[in-house]
Amino acid sequence: MLDQKLLTILACPICKGELHYNKTDKELVCLVDALAFPVKDGVPVMLKDDAREITLEEREKYS
Ligand SMILES: [Zn+2]
Repeated sequence: MLDQKLLTILACPICKGELHYNKTDKELVCLVDALAFPVKDGVPVMLKDDAREITLEEREKYS
């Protein structure tokens, strides 16, 4: 489980914007860049190379 405090200090490494935690997929989502960063064993991997692009449909779930 990802610490809520940790989540508040985390920002997108690309745009420095806010991230949304997806509990189901264990990903941190940046809506600006449409990227989802994986959380592996409770540790967010904030690397663009490891992030995946999210679809428009997925983005709409957060808005
Ligand atoms: Zn971003």
